Amino acid sequence: MKLVPGLQDSYNNGMFQAVRGTRDIFSPLVEEYVRLEAIARRLAAQWGFGEIRIPTFEEAGLFKRGVGETTDIVEKEMYVFEDRGERQLALRPEGTASVVRSYVENNMHQKEKNCRLFYVANMFRAERPQAGRYREFEQVGFEVFGDPGPLADAEIITLAWEIFKSFGLSDLRLSLNSIGCPECRGPYREKLETVLAQMISQLCEDCQNRHQKNPLRCLDCKKCSEKVRAQAPAFQLCAACQAHARIVEDLLGACGLTFVNDPSLVRGLDYYTRTVFEISSPVLGSQSAVCGGGRYDGLVELLGGPATPATGFALGVDRVVEARFKEKPPASPPLKEQAAFLVFVKAGPKAVEYGFGLAQRLRQKGVSVFCSSATDSIKSQMRQAGKSGAKYALMIGDDEFSKKQVLLKNLQDSSQATLSPEEVMTRLASPC
Ligand code: ATP
Ligand code: MG
Repeated sequence: MKLVPGLQDSYNNGMFQAVRGTRDIFSPLVEEYVRLEAIARRLAAQWGFGEIRIPTFEEAGLFKRGVGETTDIVEKEMYVFEDRGERQLALRPEGTASVVRSYVENNMHQKEKNCRLFYVANMFRAERPQAGRYREFEQVGFEVFGDPGPLADAEIITLAWEIFKSFGLSDLRLSLNSIGCPECRGPYREKLETVLAQMISQLCEDCQNRHQKNPLRCLDCKKCSEKVRAQAPAFQLCAACQAHARIVEDLLGACGLTFVNDPSLVRGLDYYTRTVFEISSPVLGSQSAVCGGGRYDGLVELLGGPATPATGFALGVDRVVEARFKEKPPASPPLKEQAAFLVFVKAGPKAVEYGFGLAQRLRQKGVSVFCSSATDSIKSQMRQAGKSGAKYALMIGDDEFSKKQVLLKNLQDSSQATLSPEEVMTRLASPC
């Protein structure tokens, strides 16, 4: 594809800017992303989930079919583009459709009765950027295939909860609902459609268009949900769905999880059946949902596989990290015990080589060694050493080189000692 001649870009003041809705993530935020991902991976292993890396883009049709044609994600938020082969592709707006596509494509149902997968992946949605809502954001998602029972639902909800707890979030709300199966949803859909038809003039343009194709979506509409919910008929679950929902609740109770039954929770994606849930963090204010999920028993079949029950969730890493910062701002990072900053003091080329070699040997022993440029002033190097968080400064100059010594300065208490390189190695590689 050729770039458009005379293409407009943000290079107006002699620099580029990150695209609206995207951002760079720096320390100390980035460490929290890594910590959350590590917790998710640790718990995934503990609960028997294997990691899957999904492609960044897929055929647009996969999401249209999988997520649902009348959902906000597909109707308004998807980054769709045509590639050089004139294929309609989309940057993934969520992970479940891709995981299901892979499950079907790779015949995973034949390999494992109960298949459990998780992913850590960035998602792309062309939404209006605001606090907690980005156009590129990260999700961690877990999916269980092949288990129709309530235990699988309770298990994934408990797993999501455990991830948040391990990460250190304490103020969380769990909302739970059942949106039934196709049998009990059918009559409800009809009743809701009648109500919506009666209030059509009060509905937004989207809801006016979709109230027949997908009336349940109006319950989740950002503009109309309140008035629709006020008039919507009560949902009557069939006996089997009622029993399922009851067991999920009992199992959650058995793990000590408290939840709120929220009959208005329908979730923004079409593929859910029976259990749906959301976890939110009140400290976040308006965009407070940190995790959403539920059962999607019809999706594997809808995407060309054999009828396979499934359940899962996705959590929004960016919001979770933000919630953690709001609940408890991070303390200053602890001193790095096994770290030294190499400071060159009147060092000629040979002394620099000597220090460079020692740094390399220390790193091979697992010690962190930071340094700046040997051409920086001593004052500047010491300032950088202080900022680095290293416990020690390794001071090396021509004098140290000629005597094959090192001046080791403890930056915490300012004590110092002249040591041989071997003594430095022993002291730093095995701190007391
Ligand atoms: P919302 O109601 O906030 O729009 P959603 O129902 O669209 O959320 P899901 O598709 O269920 O969200 O995604 C799961 C989680 O991913 C959300 O609970 C949220 O934490 C996060 N998330 C969704 N969209 C965004 C976004 N644009 N920016 C940052 N995080 C997001
Ligand atoms: Mg959304």
